[in-house]
Amino acid sequence: MSPSPWDKLAAANKAEADNEDAARQAMRDAMMVELRRLKAEGVLAFSDCLEVFEDTGTDAQVYADAVPADDHLELAERIVLSQADKGAWVLTWSWVANRDVWQGAVDSDGEPCRYLNKYHCEACDESWEDTWSCGCNDECPLCGREIEPEESIELNLKGEPNGPDEEGAD
Ligand SMILES: [Zn+2]
Repeated sequence: MSPSPWDKLAAANKAEADNEDAARQAMRDAMMVELRRLKAEGVLAFSDCLEVFEDTGTDAQVYADAVPADDHLELAERIVLSQADKGAWVLTWSWVANRDVWQGAVDSDGEPCRYLNKYHCEACDESWEDTWSCGCNDECPLCGREIEPEESIELNLKGEPNGPDEEGAD
């Protein structure tokens, strides 16, 4: 049995819709590639996106003013809303202090030891490493000379050096 004209029309409409979806998806993929390129080149900043998405409607400020005061919560410089049925989501920034989430060692002031410093004393041919809150100088354990770090590696919040393939991982 051959397909009826209605079936043919339905199939044609579906094919067109599928093509449109595919075209839209291809456009979106190309746009994302371009946005990521601009970000990588430092041309596109997040604040540019906020400018584009800023809500300048009269209600926007009312919503923004009603965001509860909180030391850890800051309104975005531009009001960005996501309207919902019975209200709106208002874009805010949440503050997380390094020292509150730090899982590694702390220095004598209680500050996170964010740096793994590697030292080498030429005079003694002595190498050692130490973690501290800054990439500061250390005393050679043998001769007591003040030595600048050869290398300061920033540690992650677990107090570990990031692996070479950590970047770009999920
Ligand atoms: Zn030395």
